[in-house]
Amino acid sequence: MSDAERTFVMVKPDGVQRGLIGEIISRFEDRGLKLVGAKFMRISDDLAHEHYGEHEGKPFFDGLVDFITSGPVMAMVWEGQDATRQVRAMMGETDPAESAPGTIRGDFGLDLGRNVIHGSDNEDEGANEREIDLFFDEDELQDYERIDETWLY
Ligand code: ADP
Ligand code: MG
Repeated sequence: MSDAERTFVMVKPDGVQRGLIGEIISRFEDRGLKLVGAKFMRISDDLAHEHYGEHEGKPFFDGLVDFITSGPVMAMVWEGQDATRQVRAMMGETDPAESAPGTIRGDFGLDLGRNVIHGSDNEDEGANEREIDLFFDEDELQDYERIDETWLY
């Protein structure tokens, strides 16, 4: 596959509790992205601080850490051409209320603090690798071919 890229994606506790894991995975699968890692897990306080370190000191930071550690998340790595940017486009804007219908946040949310999904920021250089490393060991990422890979790319 040319220009294959890996990106970190996570269904947040609200998405898990609303039963949206399958819907979200389906959207990425249907788009042609390949699931290479998945972990249904509870985020520790330390991991939350590290993952959201860029937001430390902001007024919403403590609430964000409390929320992301409040229940299980579905952490995933998706691979494909331009994956980081494509996933962000499919997610919508940070604020669901500003997100276009058809995007995940635009279809499933209205609340900024409960926006269903996280995806590595395509404008933050290296964020995808950094977040993948934070959540996954190399041997937890799988290498295989999707049946449609040869014609899709
Ligand atoms: P994104 O998740 O789109 O990359 P950010 O990195 O800016 O957005 O913020 C991380 C998360 O923090 C957001 O997804 C959202 O859950 C939460 N957040 C961001 N800004 C606010 C805010 N002003 N009030 C409450 N929560 C916020
Ligand atoms: Mg971000």
